[in-house]
Amino acid sequence: MIYEQLAQTRQNMESACRRAGRSAEEVELIAVSKTKPIPLLLEAYEAGVRDFGENRVQELLEKYEALPKDIRWHMIGHLQRNKVKYLVDKVHLIHSVDSLRLAQEIQKEAEKKQTQVNILVEVNVAGEESKFGGSREETMRLVREIALLPSVHIQGLMTVAPYVENPEANRMFFANLRQLAVDIKRESIDNVNMHVLSMGMTGDYQVAVEEGATYVRVGTGIFGNRSYEGETI
Ligand SMILES: *Cc1c(COP(=O)(O)O)cnc(C)c1O
Repeated sequence: MIYEQLAQTRQNMESACRRAGRSAEEVELIAVSKTKPIPLLLEAYEAGVRDFGENRVQELLEKYEALPKDIRWHMIGHLQRNKVKYLVDKVHLIHSVDSLRLAQEIQKEAEKKQTQVNILVEVNVAGEESKFGGSREETMRLVREIALLPSVHIQGLMTVAPYVENPEANRMFFANLRQLAVDIKRESIDNVNMHVLSMGMTGDYQVAVEEGATYVRVGTGIFGNRSYEGETI
């Protein structure tokens, strides 16, 4: 079941790349496994998945302990500062950095553990009240501030687009995120890379790929519906 869903997702990504004249290697799939039990993650692992996304620290750590060590763990949910210390040396990429205080905490813990941490800056592309991340101007300022932290390395931008019935409704938001990355890149800020764009979920990842996503985060489309009991997002 997971095998077929994965194959379908990868095929859809390739088709979207082809439509956009992109090479399929430019886009990576993150299997968003939040709320899903370990045997299901293992099934995805056996089907070749090495990138998993989680939105709660506790759950990520439990799965980290239980699963093979060549997995790249992606923290995609809102991150509280008091949880940073558990995460910095276990996570491949933190997608959801939305404040200087959070980045400073990551810096502090990275220094303690003598490690380097790769992050994305979260942008609220649609200006939704319920979402994390800043506006275009706030993101510009935040990137400049975080760039000064020696153990924290910005690799690009991330956004959670609105939930929509028709994915075309989000095309403009994805295009805006890519344009923002281009504009930041043009500033040539030390310690800032803009080669990663984390955008697109089950409902809209194909449009996101057409608009330049380098990571798509797909949960439901791989693992099926989630039971929302106990979920904080
Ligand atoms: C849950 C989640 C996803 C995956 O959502 P699906 O619609 O199930 O694909 C992607 N990104 C973030 C930040 C999430 O919290």
